[in-house]
Amino acid sequence: MSFDPWQAILGRIREAALLAGISDQVIAQLSVPKRILEVSIPLRLDNGGLEVFTGWRVHHDTSRGPAKGGIRFHPELEVKELMALAASMTMKTAVANLPFGGSKGGIRCDPSQLSRAELERLTRRFALEIAPMVGVDRDIPAPDVNTDEQVMAWFADTLWMLSGQSAWAMVTGKPIVMGGISDHAGATANGVVTCTQEIARQIGKPLEGLKVAIQGFGHVGGPLAYLLSSLGMRVVAVCDVHGAVLAKGGLDPYELSSYARHNGTISGFPMAEPISASQFWEVPVDVLIPAALSGAIDSEQARNTSASIIVEAANGPTTPEADDILESRGVIVVPDILANTGGVTSSYFEWAQDRQGFAWDGETHALRLKQFMERSFSDTWVRSQSLGVTMRKAAFVLALERVAQAIEIRGIY
Ligand code: NAD
Repeated sequence: MSFDPWQAILGRIREAALLAGISDQVIAQLSVPKRILEVSIPLRLDNGGLEVFTGWRVHHDTSRGPAKGGIRFHPELEVKELMALAASMTMKTAVANLPFGGSKGGIRCDPSQLSRAELERLTRRFALEIAPMVGVDRDIPAPDVNTDEQVMAWFADTLWMLSGQSAWAMVTGKPIVMGGISDHAGATANGVVTCTQEIARQIGKPLEGLKVAIQGFGHVGGPLAYLLSSLGMRVVAVCDVHGAVLAKGGLDPYELSSYARHNGTISGFPMAEPISASQFWEVPVDVLIPAALSGAIDSEQARNTSASIIVEAANGPTTPEADDILESRGVIVVPDILANTGGVTSSYFEWAQDRQGFAWDGETHALRLKQFMERSFSDTWVRSQSLGVTMRKAAFVLALERVAQAIEIRGIY
């Protein structure tokens, strides 16, 4: 049976609802996305031909504020995955205590097969099609897998042309000249680093010398290698969609990044040993960081990993069956809805600054990001200790309590 991310997150919501004593009525509302828009996107190809793509925008819940969530371009994108990711955003923004709900969207397409001009036309037409769903106080998109600040620039520009206003706060993860802040994905990576530091501190493990494996070397996984190395950790294995490499003494993060930049992959990195994707999961490590796609850690990986800590940079990387195995083996999982909230927290800062028309300096941004991440970690850790449950269950409990409070106090109109 293939992994169903929507059923997986619903299962986690229902399980946490029992622990937190959340009413069935609230859970019934959270078990169905608030709205889904499916759009067809005709694209004029450079060769004069035409291709029609499908895209979606999903709002899961907006009880705590406007919807917030990324835009993903992927050839295997399914609406169920977007529903799950939108629900995960509802939980994430609540764990981070940001005044947002949850959304997600994207186009089923393979951007590597499109020219830059085709990608721009596709992005702009998608922005136009989902424009009724988006707005400063309605839904604020951001980048996700295979989208970046250039895509966000085209997206925002299209919305601004449509509305006749440079409504900067309508989109986050934009270039600095459009009211953006530097390095949205870097904020996600920095948040993952704070969580890694905090969990090590809580269980009394010095970071120095700890061995790490990172799955995925993209916008989030890439910066993680040097950020963790700079704390004295040893990044011994890295993999991406093309291959995996191992260096028992630790990979040189700068050489690896430079190689990946020039070759578009870490595969073939000459200063390391090539290993297979299955060997990657068996490398002896203390910390494992999935930073690729959802469902990566299944039962087999959960049984085989030697890691005692998993910090989920990716969204939904661990299947529920794998979660049970990890729990029974005593592996600590810092869940995605906490660990990768650095990006959405940074997006919140961007949105707040754009609304105010006043930009903070980089130092203020970095300091506040660390403070927010430490607070979210501490809220979750304290709850997990008091309930005697995993950090994932505690994070869902915390999020559900906050969302349920908003749903109940607002009532039904
Ligand atoms: P990205 O597209 O930049 O990078 C993805 C990486 O995963 C690439 O290195 C790719 O080769 C690798 N990958 C893909 N399929 C793989 C496979 N089957 N096996 C091994 N590696 C594989 O994406 P990103 O922005 O770095 O996002 C990575 C994850 O982090 C996603 O789950 C995303 O939802 C999550 N996330 C990203 C952000 C952000 O700010 N970009 C924020 C929160 C969460």
